[in-house]
This record gives sequence, structure tokens and C-alpha cells, in this order.
Amino acid sequence: MICPICNYGAENVNALQLLNLIETSTYYCPNCGLYFRSPLPSQEAVYRYYTSRYFRYSENIEREMARCQGAFIIQQLQDHRVDLSQINYLEFGAGRGWVLSHLKNTGLIKSAIGIEPDNLSVQWGKENLGVDLKTGMLNEDLLVEIPSKYSETNVISLIHVLEHLHNPYEILGLLRKDLKPHFLFLEVPDAEYEGPVMEIDTFPWSSMGQHFWSFSAKSLCLFLEKQGYQIISFEREGNPHYWESTMERLSLWKTYFSLNEERYLYGDLNLRDVLTANFNLMIGSCLIKIKSLKAPKQTRLDLPIIRILAKSK
Ligand SMILES: [Zn+2]
Repeated sequence: MICPICNYGAENVNALQLLNLIETSTYYCPNCGLYFRSPLPSQEAVYRYYTSRYFRYSENIEREMARCQGAFIIQQLQDHRVDLSQINYLEFGAGRGWVLSHLKNTGLIKSAIGIEPDNLSVQWGKENLGVDLKTGMLNEDLLVEIPSKYSETNVISLIHVLEHLHNPYEILGLLRKDLKPHFLFLEVPDAEYEGPVMEIDTFPWSSMGQHFWSFSAKSLCLFLEKQGYQIISFEREGNPHYWESTMERLSLWKTYFSLNEERYLYGDLNLRDVLTANFNLMIGSCLIKIKSLKAPKQTRLDLPIIRILAKSK
């Protein structure tokens, strides 16, 4: 498989059932560090999936995440001498509208509008945060009406959205082409840390919400430049140890299943070995649990991420 970003040969690293919708494979590009899945479910299936999911973290976590993201946007625009009072912010996949609320409450920008596929989140955000949220899914159909409906937009925001898109090239290409010169704010999980998890996590119970793409710093910068954006600010944040206990847990289960499967396939499955494998799994799980109790508590705020502010060329 050819890497869609740098055209280098990508390696097939596993096969899995993605979102419980399709049998697919994960590929890794050793040149730019991109992880991607192919084939992907149909756009209709993805649309149905995301319009029926009411996903959220706790209010405190979401508020704090929004504060970090909002602060980055404001700070970077200010550093680039942008007149904030003329900023019309448009966010796709805006969730319950925490970033909109943060930006609105600074009183610094002209307007903030969000579009979100999940109607329950939209209702909650309107009622509880008083933000301007509309229901809609980021796809080619929606983008047809964006330039006329939101012609004054000059900051586009995609926060943890790019990795869920069926066709990020087309979407970003359309945004860049059809909208007036604008800034683009992106936040995605960092593939340097998330990628190894995608490599070993092929369990059906983890299938919910899995990403189609995982961008490394290099692949994301290449991708944006190819799409006609100039990167003006870039940062990586999060705890590099965030995924460690998940990786340990997944590896333990992986070993357990593959050992038993191997024995079964070779007709070598006996009660003593199964009991030993179960015992090892139990001890391993307990050790991971004890270790995690001693480790500092992590939250979603510790997830390693990449944040970028870019400008359409
Ligand atoms: Zn590549």
C-alpha cells in the first residue's frame, strides 16, 4: 500500500474489524510516520455511526481541554498580529461547544459558530453554554453551503476531527479552495504515541470510535503543505507515558489469545496449559493494576497531541 501523504511504501501492520462496520487493515508509513486504515467504511455508514453517538468526557475535563485549545488559538493569533475583533470562528465537530464558549467568554472575537453531528450535544451546548451550535456532519455535501452561509469565516477549527474523517484530503482541499483566506486550527492525537496502540489493538471491544488516520508531526505538516496551508505555529503536548498501561494490558491479552490459538490450531490444546495461561493472565493483570495504582493518575488532558495553527496560502 502506498502512503497517501508521501507516496512511500507503507507496511501492513494488522487486520481488524473497524467500528464494527468493516474488515480492514492498519498501515504504517516508515517515512512520514502516518498510520492509516484501508479500506474504510462507506461515508453513509460513517455518517450513521457518528450521528448516533453521544460521546463526552466529564464537564471539568472538557472545560479544561477547551481552555488549553482556546488559549493556544488566541495566543497564536495575537502573536501574528491578527485583529481578534474581526475573527469569525467556525468549528466542525464542535461537540457540546466548550471551545466556542471559552472563545465567546473572552469577549475578544467577533463570532463563534459550531457544527456538530450529534444532536444531543448540540441541544446541550445551546441550553447549558448558550453557544451557537448547529447540527451537521463535515462532508462534501455540507461544504457546498459553507462558503455562502458563513462567508465571513476566517478561522476554521477541527479539534480531534481529522482522524475520524473518511476523506480528509477532499475535505481540507474544499475548505481551502472555497473559503476566503483563513486560519486553520487543528488538534490531533500524536501518532508517535497513539500508533503503537493502533498496531496491537485489534480487539473487537476496542472497535468503538477507532481512528481512520493517526498523524505524526511530519505527516501532518506534509499533509497541510500539500493542501495549500502554511504552518505558522506548532506544538506537541501531553504525557509520553499516557498509553503505557494500555499497551501493557493489550500485550498481555494478545499473548494470551495467540498462545491458546496456536495450541488449538496445532491440536496441542490441553487443560494444564490453558490453566497455566489463565493463571499467568491473572497475575499479569494484577501486577499492571498494582503498578497503575502507584502511578500518578492520568486524565484525557495527558493524551499526547499535536496542535497546529496554519494559514491558507
Ligand atoms: Zn508517508
